[in-house]
Amino acid sequence: MDRFTVGIDIGGTNTVTGLVDGSGNVVARETLPTAEYTDGAAFVEDIAQTILRLEAARNATIDGIGIGAPNANYLTGTIGAGTANLMIKEEIPICRVLREKFGVDTVISNDADAAALGERIYGSAKECDNFILVTLGTGVGSGFFADGRLVHGRDCLAGELGHMTLIPGGRECTCGRRGCLETYTSARGICRTFRELAETNASLLPGNLDIGTATSREIGDLANQGNSVAVETFAKTAEYLAIGLANAVTFSNPEIIILMGGPTKVGDPLLQPLKRHFERNLLYIYKGSVSIELSRLDDNDAAIIGAAALTKIKPHTT
Ligand SMILES: [Zn+2]
Repeated sequence: MDRFTVGIDIGGTNTVTGLVDGSGNVVARETLPTAEYTDGAAFVEDIAQTILRLEAARNATIDGIGIGAPNANYLTGTIGAGTANLMIKEEIPICRVLREKFGVDTVISNDADAAALGERIYGSAKECDNFILVTLGTGVGSGFFADGRLVHGRDCLAGELGHMTLIPGGRECTCGRRGCLETYTSARGICRTFRELAETNASLLPGNLDIGTATSREIGDLANQGNSVAVETFAKTAEYLAIGLANAVTFSNPEIIILMGGPTKVGDPLLQPLKRHFERNLLYIYKGSVSIELSRLDDNDAAIIGAAALTKIKPHTT
């Protein structure tokens, strides 16, 4: 009978439960439609049934359960009440329920923290005690690993880099404030920058492109084809991100900053100007000492692997 760790990635749309082997490979997975659940107990029960099915199918023994979720509290083992992206509005004591059912360590943390641990245990940050993981997606998330430990903070809310104010009075953010890093460097921020640049440069864009609905991926493809508006979009994005990352370096003195998420797939149009602006913006004592790398974990599996990696750190006892 093989031993596996369960990694659960809870998102607003889907919840993916996977079995992860000792080398960080996802060997089996099943998906539940998170958005269809309004009752926390029923949701957790269906996750438990999923784990039982995966166990039976692989003739597996599980040695721990790790969960990455929005609004998760590592210390209490719960998903907090009123989570923005979930239909379930009450607090979900998911760790206690699954621990009682399966009798193994069960740990939860927010998705970016889980991804940071995934990098530490299976990815680009093996042997690295000081790094920052930054995810670019619908929003911008971050996990700080400092002095060999994941930084949680008092209420497990440390590392909200996406909501660092970058431009005073700048773009309106979903958090209710203005000028957050996320409003410039998330997928949505990139699309907005593109639309702004396109307003005065429409003639430089392909005639069949709907500027209003162009996705960050489409803009990335255009940038890689050399379109000047798209290239400029990523150059501006890189400049904003570089300032945010250079500021972040002063918090925790990292050795590596690892980037993951859809917009990073564009590659050079983002990375080349990012590295240049980053080095330029770094405080002199850090210059030349911090590398920026792309995550090497498989995109589809990173969240599950990261969640499973949560069980490799000190279990909590709630
Ligand atoms: Zn914000």
